[in-house]
Amino acid sequence: MGEINSGIWEESPLYRNAVLQLNEAGSTMHLDPNVLERLKRPKRALVVSVPIRLDDGAIAVFEGYRVQHNMTLGPGKGGIRYHQDVNLSEVAGLAMLMTFKCSLVGLPLGGAKGGIRVDPNLLSRQEKQALTRRYTTEINMIIGPDRDIPAPDVGTDAQTMAWMMDTFSQERGYAIPGVVTGKPVEIGGSLGRAESTGRGVVYTIVQAYQKLGMNLGPSTTVSVHGFGKVGAVAAEEMEMLGCKVVAVSDVSGGYYNKNGIKIRELTQYLAKNRTMVGFPGAEPITNDELIALKVDIFIPAAIDGVIHGDNVNRVSAKVIAEGANGPITADAHKVLVDKGVLIIPDILCNAGGVIVSYFEWVQGLQNFFWSENEVNDKLKATMIPAFDRVWSCMEKYKIRDMKTAALITGVERLKKAMLLRGLFP
Ligand code: NAD
Repeated sequence: MGEINSGIWEESPLYRNAVLQLNEAGSTMHLDPNVLERLKRPKRALVVSVPIRLDDGAIAVFEGYRVQHNMTLGPGKGGIRYHQDVNLSEVAGLAMLMTFKCSLVGLPLGGAKGGIRVDPNLLSRQEKQALTRRYTTEINMIIGPDRDIPAPDVGTDAQTMAWMMDTFSQERGYAIPGVVTGKPVEIGGSLGRAESTGRGVVYTIVQAYQKLGMNLGPSTTVSVHGFGKVGAVAAEEMEMLGCKVVAVSDVSGGYYNKNGIKIRELTQYLAKNRTMVGFPGAEPITNDELIALKVDIFIPAAIDGVIHGDNVNRVSAKVIAEGANGPITADAHKVLVDKGVLIIPDILCNAGGVIVSYFEWVQGLQNFFWSENEVNDKLKATMIPAFDRVWSCMEKYKIRDMKTAALITGVERLKKAMLLRGLFP
């Protein structure tokens, strides 16, 4: 990291991790150092103050960010995160991962990310709406259907995207659905978008098992850390494949049942009670205990950095599918790869969301919408060849580390585009 001469970006572990991984990929593929240098920094970052009037009449000011890492392949694409720990460096790291993800799966999109440093759970619906609308106004000069297209991430959802779309459209005077993806279907969202990331996670697990010559079935045990938009769908899809989901968790803790948790029942319980507490189909465990469970497949689908140097030796899954972005720190990743654990890397594993976001954008631009089956078929037809490209890359470079192979695959395509476009001016 010493070679980056700017302290701004290095603050967050997520950004530092992303650069370490990029360095590793760069040295394995003998990447042109000029390209490597350019990829280590974002193209553009905007920091904004977001003042809102709270329900009690007071004014609170939050800090918001939008970072565009690289837009060589097309408009920026990446989610908006509302979380109390968000900062500029973390958003920049996430934007960098989006660049490689879009390139890896073959999308004509660049990498971006946004966020507000706020705990959304402390805000009322009205306060969240005010926050979203003011943030959209503050960043509106750098987003747009041809420039940079936000989507939901941690702490935001389809309703947040509806407010963003409405604010951007009100300011222009006509409806511009293409400014965001992950919108509700009623205003131009895509069928299958909400489930796409979790489904994509499962497509990659199926493909990994095929490559390893193993079968998924009733004896295959799965644990899911983070039963949110990604984790809940992944858990349900694994159950539908006949696997046994023995543990799931959210920020409040985990639930375990050695015979398998009935995921539909848990989802219904959650919808009714808004918390897993008291769910009769499993016994409570802590998140630390969940991470250490002996399972065949572990799906971290909550936040970054949950597997790190201090707990990595307790992880005993054979396959880890990174539903979340950056859930394993670089040092822990190395330990796991050396132990022979297959880690399906985030930029491949959770790419289903951005792929169907791309489909949503395309459908919106054409004003022609597809059936959910069509969306799912196209999702699979995009993810499986991407998985295979990464696998071939591992074989080509004789490495066992799928993360490096995924980065190489993404950087390879991007590098060609960067060299063809050349350096301006
Ligand atoms: P979400 O907010 O819907 O769900 C997050 C889940 O993790 C919640 O159940 C929350 O309670 C839980 N959680 C949060 N902190 C935790 C902790 N410390 N320990 C245990 N559980 C914790 O978010 P999401 O959209 O499902 O995103 C999850 C991850 O997937 C993020 O890393 C995100 O960047 C990534 N991702 C999401 C999408 C998408 O389409 N939603 C796409 C690609 C990647």
